[in-house]
Amino acid sequence: MTAVVLPPDTHHFKLGSCTITVVKDGANILDNPWEIFGSNQAPETVQKLLAQNFLPTEKLVNSYAPAIIDTGTDVIVVDTGFGPAGRARGLGRFREGLKAVGYTPEQVTVVALTHLHGDHISGLIEDGAPAFPNARYVTGEIEYEFWTDKAREGTPAEGGHKAVLANVVPFAEKMTFLKEGDQIVNGMTAMLAPGHTPGHLVFHLQSDGKQLVMTGDVANHYILSLGRPDWEVRFDADKIQAAKTRRRVFDMISADRIPFLGFHMPFPAVGFVEKHQDGFRYIPKTYQFDL
Ligand SMILES: [Zn+2]
Repeated sequence: MTAVVLPPDTHHFKLGSCTITVVKDGANILDNPWEIFGSNQAPETVQKLLAQNFLPTEKLVNSYAPAIIDTGTDVIVVDTGFGPAGRARGLGRFREGLKAVGYTPEQVTVVALTHLHGDHISGLIEDGAPAFPNARYVTGEIEYEFWTDKAREGTPAEGGHKAVLANVVPFAEKMTFLKEGDQIVNGMTAMLAPGHTPGHLVFHLQSDGKQLVMTGDVANHYILSLGRPDWEVRFDADKIQAAKTRRRVFDMISADRIPFLGFHMPFPAVGFVEKHQDGFRYIPKTYQFDL
């Protein structure tokens, strides 16, 4: 019997006059959660928090959620997943999901990148050609300058530098480099949220009075990084700045009671936060957008 390969998970909801589709690019298992989240804490402290939240203590599942925002005028892809580079590991399924929900890659008008890590940029090129041939591109000015700078050679960021040269630089002529507050399309703006990477952006979308914040990698685990925003995260380039940004962004999201889409939140990666203990409690979306 041949194994059945199911299509990737996709999830739709309405936000004002926009349709948002979240696609699961894939998921993988990571060992020793305490070495990633709370790397400055005792392992038992991290394990205790996981156990209290009914989660396994020895491994965690990390998932990836690129999204499509259809405004009626534009089809905007927010982050692209692993693309061809991930397929051997069961990742890189965004393109398949985009087609499965009825879009063609040619319909995409804008590709917006929160930051330039591999799981966000590796879907830009497909078979040596642009994956979204008619799109223009946006990303942070500081982010682009950091990763393209030759000064990254011989540093821990060298791998990322090379990946950006291969995957992002080919689109430079069609790319707009965003600063704090810049508009991407009508109703969608960029806000600087540095720390995870030097020029990380979050995107704020507004449509008919409804709001959604796409937080990228500002918080990457719904318990460990939202519940304990000050804990160090191995993937954050500047750990102090990342913690400050996490507090600032989620203070705003909790105060305004607005939904957010977090690239590594459990699929469909959309929820709310409220202040709780020393951090935030994550409340996954249910039917808030259906009424
Ligand atoms: Zn990421």
